[in-house]
Amino acid sequence: MSQKILIVGAGFAGVWGALGAARVLDRAGMAAEVDVTLISPKPELQIRPRMYESEPRRMFAPLLPLLDAANVHYSAGRVDAIAVHDRTVRVTGPSGETRSLDYDRLLLTSGSQLARPAIPGLADYAFSVDCMEDAAELESHLEELARLPDSRARNTVVVAGCGFTGIEIATELPKRMRALMGPDAAIKVIVVGSQAEIGPDLGPNPRPYVAEAFEALGVETVLGAPVVSVEAGGVRTASGAHIEAMTVVWAGGMRASKLAAQVSSRLDQLGRVEVAPDLRVADAPEVFVAGDVARVRTDDAGHDALMSCQHAMVMGKFGGHNVAADLIGAATLPYRQPFYATCLDLGEWGAVYSEGWDRQIKLTHAEGKARKQMINTQWIYPPAPNRADALAAGDPLASFG
Ligand SMILES: Cc1cc2nc3c(=O)[nH]c(=O)nc-3n(C[C@H](O)[C@H](O)[C@H](O)COP(=O)(O)OP(=O)(O)OC[C@H]3O[C@@H](n4cnc5c(N)ncnc54)[C@H](O)[C@@H]3O)c2cc1C
Repeated sequence: MSQKILIVGAGFAGVWGALGAARVLDRAGMAAEVDVTLISPKPELQIRPRMYESEPRRMFAPLLPLLDAANVHYSAGRVDAIAVHDRTVRVTGPSGETRSLDYDRLLLTSGSQLARPAIPGLADYAFSVDCMEDAAELESHLEELARLPDSRARNTVVVAGCGFTGIEIATELPKRMRALMGPDAAIKVIVVGSQAEIGPDLGPNPRPYVAEAFEALGVETVLGAPVVSVEAGGVRTASGAHIEAMTVVWAGGMRASKLAAQVSSRLDQLGRVEVAPDLRVADAPEVFVAGDVARVRTDDAGHDALMSCQHAMVMGKFGGHNVAADLIGAATLPYRQPFYATCLDLGEWGAVYSEGWDRQIKLTHAEGKARKQMINTQWIYPPAPNRADALAAGDPLASFG
């Protein structure tokens, strides 16, 4: 093998990117001549969109059989540095050893993490559902609380942040906490947000359904006053209020992986690389970027991809296609994904499903929930680990939209 494609990250963009690259090489009859390697800390896809649910340790899909079927190699480790001029990456392996890997083309899909601002006490006392490890820590904490005597502080959770993630964890928690603390426990979930409205990015259409679900589930809101400090026993807001709670969940938005800054100086306010329509980095033309770490237009109407699973999966296919096409001298494809939908889980109330950037409501309550369950248990999981399904899943032009 003389040429190498390296894919950094095994999230939605990385996994579907690997399949996209494998498909191009297979169709060109060059699978034996180009090595595709995917590198990430673990050989599994963490299903981040499900981390607000109970049993978060189950929310992953193993990747080795799938990568094997697609003839993609797996390398365990975390990339610490990318040297675009040398075309090398420095990796720390599972036992702490470091190594260097070279590449001819790189697809960067290292995703995002929860933004954690320097609010006093946040790092020490706040939980999150950003990744499996954090969500598992929250679950263990709730299990421990269930062994404590009944009290208002034990039964109260503050969710700080009223965007998509804040809404989903807040509406899920009453059911999860009652399952642990008993059906009669006086569970209280309070969403604290800096903005005046719940779900500032949601738009007007879904918001009445969120309000209806909050009302039905007893989720309270304290809006227009951000959390200014977190303590073991609760939070303080900018208006001076102290809310007593033994559990605080921080849901304050996401920031792109810091590796973005190593491949480009053109970053947006979320730390994402501003890429060309084919996902190439202008100042490092052997590097393509996809998923939460890329900022790119989805259509001709001026919509940018969001930090979302639906965009990461499709962008990944385009990124994988393009990184391989570019290497073998074939034309790259401009990323396009005009179809956009949102499905917001609202706990035992159901879910609200909308289509379009203006979020036209299509399904609510139990019908919305059935759609959410379909998304969460089927649509965002990798294909079956056989070559035909694996390569078909990498086709960027077969994507919805
Ligand atoms: C609670 C929650 C609910 C969500 N709900 C939804 C939803 O309903 N709908 C939706 O569309 N989106 C949702 N999202 C957002 C969605 O999960 C992300 O947008 C999506 O995971 C982005 O995919 P990605 O492949 O870009 O990155 P990620 O999924 O973050 O994957 C990044 C990968 O890169 C690896 N990595 C990171 N750094 C390195 C490194 N230095 N070296 C090697 N590997 C590295 C990671 O281990 C991981 O494998 C939700 C997110 C959360 C947390």
